[in-house]
Amino acid sequence: MKLIRTGASGHEIPGLLLSDGRRIDASGFGADYDEAFFGGDGLARLAAWAQANAASAPVIAPDVRLGPCLARPSKIVCVGLNYADHAKESGMPIPPEPILFFKSTTSIAGPNDAVVIPRGSKKTDWEVELAVIIGRRASYVSEADAMQHVAGYALHNDYSEREWQLERGGQWVKGKSCDTFAPLGPFLATRDEVADPQALKLWLSVNGVRRQHSTTAQMIFGVRQLVSYISQFMTLLPGDVISTGTPPGVGLGLKPQPIFLQPGDVVELGIDGLGTQRQVARAYA
Ligand code: ZN
Repeated sequence: MKLIRTGASGHEIPGLLLSDGRRIDASGFGADYDEAFFGGDGLARLAAWAQANAASAPVIAPDVRLGPCLARPSKIVCVGLNYADHAKESGMPIPPEPILFFKSTTSIAGPNDAVVIPRGSKKTDWEVELAVIIGRRASYVSEADAMQHVAGYALHNDYSEREWQLERGGQWVKGKSCDTFAPLGPFLATRDEVADPQALKLWLSVNGVRRQHSTTAQMIFGVRQLVSYISQFMTLLPGDVISTGTPPGVGLGLKPQPIFLQPGDVVELGIDGLGTQRQVARAYA
């Protein structure tokens, strides 16, 4: 299944993207895609609901806004420097263990919402990433069992303010958490829709110029390892998001000099089987 949420920001309703391309209203199912939904076997119940109701459910008009593909989760855990080609390009050693950081959940946005360059920002940058959505509470999970805790996958752009991330002291979280810095979607694809999460091409363009293009095969630590690893340090709750790191080609790494986003810039990105996003940058107002 492909789960979507549509409507005005903060007032989204749950829906489904059907295989024939129709978007249907699933509010008749009676639950949003939140922690209680994922933790309460919601995917199986939703599949049963869709079997009986998809044909007669109201269709959502094509011009209705897509919101983030899940309701605000308890946390977004991100993985840094997790692509071998990115580490190589940066001249950095392969990390011996995953590098973890958080992103605020208030940074979540719809996949095609404008990205707001925050007040005072000079170095707003992009990062196409595969996001993993947790389906079952995970604490001290083995790698062998890890995939049983995955609900599905989504496309994520891990927007980053590099000065605040790297030059303002402390942790990366300051540069990762601004409003609109986590567009998620267009849809959440359930785990069965992705045959191999380590064989997906991903790409990102700015103003039509391809900046990132790689494959999740380049990940140093794969999805199975990451879910297990993170669960040794914290409990992952249903609906939590793990963003698995970005390949080379971010603005900070461009030669001969870095490029950062300006108002009006158009960012487009995609992952095999997980759809595409498009954001226009605008100044904070
Ligand atoms: Zn990232």
